[in-house]
Order: sequence, then C-alpha cells, then structure tokens
Amino acid sequence: MGTIVVTGASRGIGLELVKTYLAKGDKVIATYRSPEPPSTLTLLQGTNQLTLHPLEVTDSQSIEAFAASLEDTHIDVLVNNAGIIGPDHQSYSDMDVQGWKQTFEINTIAPLIITNALLSHLKKSRSPKVLTISSQMGALSRESIGMFAYRSSKAAVNKVMQVLALELKAEGIIVCPVHPGWVKTDMGGDEADITVQESAEGIVKLSQSLTMNDSGKFFTWEGHEHAW
Ligand code: NDP
Repeated sequence: MGTIVVTGASRGIGLELVKTYLAKGDKVIATYRSPEPPSTLTLLQGTNQLTLHPLEVTDSQSIEAFAASLEDTHIDVLVNNAGIIGPDHQSYSDMDVQGWKQTFEINTIAPLIITNALLSHLKKSRSPKVLTISSQMGALSRESIGMFAYRSSKAAVNKVMQVLALELKAEGIIVCPVHPGWVKTDMGGDEADITVQESAEGIVKLSQSLTMNDSGKFFTWEGHEHAW
C-alpha cells in the first residue's frame, strides 16, 4: 500500500484515480483548486485514508503551502493530472494568446514545478514514481490539425518529463508521461471511447507495474509504450 498524490481531483480522471487508489487500499492526498473542497471529494471522506488539500497548480504560494502541509509524509506516486483543454479560440488564424499561455502554465509548467516542490517527499519513498497525464494529441508522431494550444502544451510536457526522467534517474525516481485514452469527462465529452473507470484502472495498474527501465517512456493507459 502506498501514498498517492493526485492533482486536479475534483472531477473527471483525477476523481476516479482517487476512488481507484482508495479501493486498492492506498492512502490518497487529493488536491482541488476551489477555495472549499468539492462535494465529490468530501463524500469520499470517512476514513483517514483520504486527505484533501487545496492546490491551484499555477500559484507558487499554493504549491509551497501544499508541500509544507505534507511535513514528513513520503509520496510513492505523484499523479500530475490537472489540465485544461485551452481557449475556445486556438486556431492558427484565430488564437487567444493569453489563453495559450495559461494552457502552458497549467499543462506544461505546473507539472515540473510541482514535482520539484514535492521532491523531498518523493525521495522518502522506496520506489517513487511521477506520472504526468499528457495526451496523444501532443504526439509528434501523429499528424493532426487544430487545437494548437492544447497540442503544443502536451507535446512540451512530454519533452519536459523525458528530460526530468533522465535528471532524476540517479535519485531512483521513475518519471513517465501517460496518455489516459479518450475519456468520457467534461473535457473528453460523451462521445469519447472509454469511461473514467477504464482509464483510471489502467493508469493505476500502470503505476504499480513501472520499473526504472520504463522511466522516460511515454505510456498509454493500457500500459503500452506510445510513440513520441
Ligand atoms: P476535466 O476537465 O474533467 O478535469 C480537469 C481537472 O483539472 C479538474 O479537477 C480541474 O479542477 C483541474 N484543474 C484545471 N486547472 C487547474 C488549475 N489551474 N489548478 C488546479 N486544478 C486544475 O478533465 P479530464 O479529467 O478529462 O482530464 C484530466 C487530464 O487528462 C488532463 O491533464 C487532460 O489534459 C488529460 N487528458 C484527458 C483526455 C480525455 O479524453 N478526457 C484525453 C487526453 C488527456 P476544477 O474542477 O476546479 O476545474
């Protein structure tokens, strides 16, 4: 049984990851960005298995406060899940530039800053892992059009995690970006391929099976390696 941190846990894939890890007997520290914990998470409380903490992933003070609240807790798995699809206008001819920057702050920059802020807690684990929920929409190996802000933010976070994996290898920390599938959430929509349960089950299973040899690889929720 481990101690898991999930960011962006108020709904969607993050919420389902919390439920899935709890069901497997892990301790979960779930973060949400609203001032008060959302009912989706408070409803899951009842045992000391689940701790809730506010975290706005782009706010350095919020990140510091979260890291400080952990005191001497060790983290076995950090799931950088919080993400946004980006602005309504993100085509080459009609780009909301401010929205593009915000997409980068949340999807690309925050996972690195948060991982670094929690590094001392990860180092206390015997087998620390960092999974960053990315997307195949950022894969350079797949030709596709549109969604410039989202695609570029996920392509960039893939590179960030590949570099980080190399840099943290000596510390024994496994780092992998993960494509969660096309999932029925507010972001994925009703037409998506898979349910949050399928995606979360796959990601949890993957997180349990990863070894140091896997660090720096891009995986799918099914546990297959994804082409960059
Ligand atoms: P949802 O839109 O359902 O949920 C997004 C979560 O991220 C919410 O909990 C939201 O909090 C949180 N969040 C967003 N911005 C911030 C922020 N600035 N600080 C803290 N939390 C924040 O998305 P999904 O569950 O579908 O997506 C989860 C991850 O999976 C994302 O990284 C997404 O890019 C990725 N993904 C999803 C796919 C899909 O098909 N659904 C496909 C590929 C990748 P709040 O409730 O407060 O808004």
